[in-house]
Amino acid sequence: AQRTAPLRARAEIDLAALRANVRALRERARGAAVMAVVKADAYGHGALPCARAAVAAGATWLGTATPQEALALRAADGIPADVRIMCWLWTPGGPWREGVEAGLDMSVSGMWALAEVTEAARLAGRPARVQLKADTGLGRGGCQPGEDWAELVGEALRAEREGLLRITGLWSHFACADEPGHPSIAAQLTRFREMVAYAEGQGVRPEVRHIANSPATLTLPEAHFDLVRPGIAMYGISPSPEIGTPADLGLRPVMTLTASVALVKQVPGGHGVSYGHRYTTPGRTTLGLIPLGYADGIPRHASSTGPVLVDGKWRTVAGRIAMDQFVVDLGGDEPQPGAEAVLFGPGDRGEPTAEDWAQAAGTIAYEIVTRIGPRVPRVHL
Ligand code: PLP
Repeated sequence: AQRTAPLRARAEIDLAALRANVRALRERARGAAVMAVVKADAYGHGALPCARAAVAAGATWLGTATPQEALALRAADGIPADVRIMCWLWTPGGPWREGVEAGLDMSVSGMWALAEVTEAARLAGRPARVQLKADTGLGRGGCQPGEDWAELVGEALRAEREGLLRITGLWSHFACADEPGHPSIAAQLTRFREMVAYAEGQGVRPEVRHIANSPATLTLPEAHFDLVRPGIAMYGISPSPEIGTPADLGLRPVMTLTASVALVKQVPGGHGVSYGHRYTTPGRTTLGLIPLGYADGIPRHASSTGPVLVDGKWRTVAGRIAMDQFVVDLGGDEPQPGAEAVLFGPGDRGEPTAEDWAQAAGTIAYEIVTRIGPRVPRVHL
């Protein structure tokens, strides 16, 4: 990407790293297909360039939450027609007919959704691709085991026999796969096998059965089934410190967030800094103004804790993070205005990582990268 003028801030997206991460995940998947999860603008990395890169590295499916995200990918250039696109977060009155016509794989968790997708297929005059979602223990989306599952499977098979839909998948999602050894993991796997066996016993012939997110892809081969659905690992971020660092896992962080230092100034000791004066300069010092704030997704909870690399040194946010800007105390250093401040990146230039920001803000790295706002240009490298 060309830079025509210096940017206030930018999020560099290392697509070569993303491709390498997808290849590493394919190796882990050992023959299972890879669905690249690119919801929420590819966790803030840019849905379309990341989807294309993931496909180039061997992902044969793309996954999104909303149907709008999935339809946008289907309509975009550069995603081959044989790459399947699945979405799972439907609400009543959703764009089922567009989904049928676009050939999306549409998740169905219950009877209202089955009725709507079947009607849409009738109107479109072609069968819908439907993936039945089982709640094996997450307690969020998905159909409850037992009678509810039996009813959903029965009705879906009836619609399949009428030519209104094709049951392309049976699937579920883990609650605690990022905590290896958590007892719910084995319980969910057992329940998944039971629910799949029931559906297959009734005559369902799915193309794919799947339950594995990134942590399960990385730590639980018995959960791979026909397809794995990594999200966070593809962006080079570990699902949890317990599972390892990105380097331990053979992954490289994809996003580097930098800003151009907007102002450098000397202030005396005892100077209050930013709203609420939560920081007071301990003595005469230099302050640097970093032009990113919570409107850009920099968590306000990281006020007084967030790390930034300026001129090769780690500095900490001084006082509160405001909507558009925050301040760092540069000690005696005097970088030029326009000097690069690195909020996070892979970490190998000494810069903090998204994980460091997550710790500073009391959240997870997923949230740090996903919330970087639209005012920050993504520069895909
Ligand atoms: N599958 C589903 C249904 C999801 O909602 C998500 C994201 O939360 C993923 C897979 C990918 O999860 P992760 O980013 O932990 O790999």
